[in-house]
Amino acid sequence: MLPLRGPAPRRGGPGAGGDVVTGAWETVIGLEVHAQLLTATKAFCGCAAAVGGAPNSRCCPVCLGLPGALPVLNRQAVELTLRVGLATGCRIAPVSVMARKHYFYPDLPKGYQISQYARPLCEEGALTVDGRRVRLKRIHLEEDAGKSVHGAGGTRVDLNRCGVPLAEIVTEPDLRSPAEAHATLRALRQLLVYLGVCDGNMEEGSLRCDANLSLRRPGSTALGVKTELKNLNSFRGVEAALRFEAERQAALLEAGERVRPETLLWDAAAREARPMRGKEDAEDYRYVPDPDLPPVRVDPAWLDAVRASLPELPAARAARFVALGLTPYDAGVLTADPALADTFEAVLGAGAPLAAATSWVSGELLRHANERGLAPADFPVPPAGLADLLKRVEAGELSNSAAKTVFARMVDEGGDAAAWIRRLDLGLVSDEDALAARVAAIVAANPSELARYRAGESKLFGWFVGQLMADSKGKADPRLASRLVRERLDAGADGD
Ligand SMILES: [Zn+2]
Repeated sequence: MLPLRGPAPRRGGPGAGGDVVTGAWETVIGLEVHAQLLTATKAFCGCAAAVGGAPNSRCCPVCLGLPGALPVLNRQAVELTLRVGLATGCRIAPVSVMARKHYFYPDLPKGYQISQYARPLCEEGALTVDGRRVRLKRIHLEEDAGKSVHGAGGTRVDLNRCGVPLAEIVTEPDLRSPAEAHATLRALRQLLVYLGVCDGNMEEGSLRCDANLSLRRPGSTALGVKTELKNLNSFRGVEAALRFEAERQAALLEAGERVRPETLLWDAAAREARPMRGKEDAEDYRYVPDPDLPPVRVDPAWLDAVRASLPELPAARAARFVALGLTPYDAGVLTADPALADTFEAVLGAGAPLAAATSWVSGELLRHANERGLAPADFPVPPAGLADLLKRVEAGELSNSAAKTVFARMVDEGGDAAAWIRRLDLGLVSDEDALAARVAAIVAANPSELARYRAGESKLFGWFVGQLMADSKGKADPRLASRLVRERLDAGADGD
């Protein structure tokens, strides 16, 4: 099949790509997100749910759907799905039903996938994204399928993923631009990580996104013909694919042609979408309630216990940081990841000044973590160690730039701030007599500059401070250095 080529995608980050098409069309987007739940075992058997392992080493008769194998629902998978439902204000069904969704595919040996259909666990919630409400149609529990591995020797099937529990989160078509879709997916990922239900790793496939998109005339409330985009495995991919598809549909409609309802596979490398299969024939999944699985009952006591176990959510945490005195931007950076927010609070708790803790955790610490591919939770310098360093800067023991040098050594080689300051000889010189003597010597060695300063060239003050800083290899206490230079220059007559 030939790829569907469209116009080259236009540039623009979140917030910039409000309307990627033209004013003539309104973009309508909905997302379907699959989040792999952080359970130890699979949804219906005792096989390990972790990613990896030798092909087909993590499956059993239940995974394969062999005759006589009886699935048993993993209570933890239900509980994790409930956490998402409660955190997004969903209505939780006291009784929901596991269904069989029939389709034939090599990586699905049973010939059906266990999912939920008419009676899902959670319905009608919402997510707040950049102050806008995005409605969630439903959140249900289902199992993953296996994976076809294409290689030189042909296609093989790895069934390790069969039966891995997924929460499927479906939004209403409330998004109006690729940038909004990107922001929504980011907010959803953040929430899932906060809730401890998913590791949020899109590269490893534990968070996957499909999106549907249609266009309509502004002001119209009817929905246009939509297409579905599959295989969106990065935030940028989601935005690029949607932009591509919006422009492709607009070009079709402008040419007086019809958009065909179909499923498209996004090729991130080629930056184009190719048809996967006609949506019309795929719609008939012949859902039936799974006869082997009893209805899922969620009693009020269980629901109350899950609700009580929910952590502080990202929006609430960011609001609390703003109340401490952070800008909304800094609060957003520091709450992007719960472990980073924990680190920030621990650094503050260990006595670091607020401004320094804010800029160092969102700046130096995050930069070192990113450069080394470390999660904030695995960062080698403990919060108390960073707080100790920042308190020393505050006390005038070393300069901010020297502190960055010390911190880099602490990150790579361990050890505490005091030891590195000594070893690298980075402590500030704040011995007033010694510095005053150096100032006197510098002033005496530069009589013409002194004369020009005294004749009114006041900018030479900075030049003298610079000489002193260079003389002390940057270690002169800057505040003290300024005062001593000023005193010497303004002394009137030569003091020597
Ligand atoms: Zn199994």
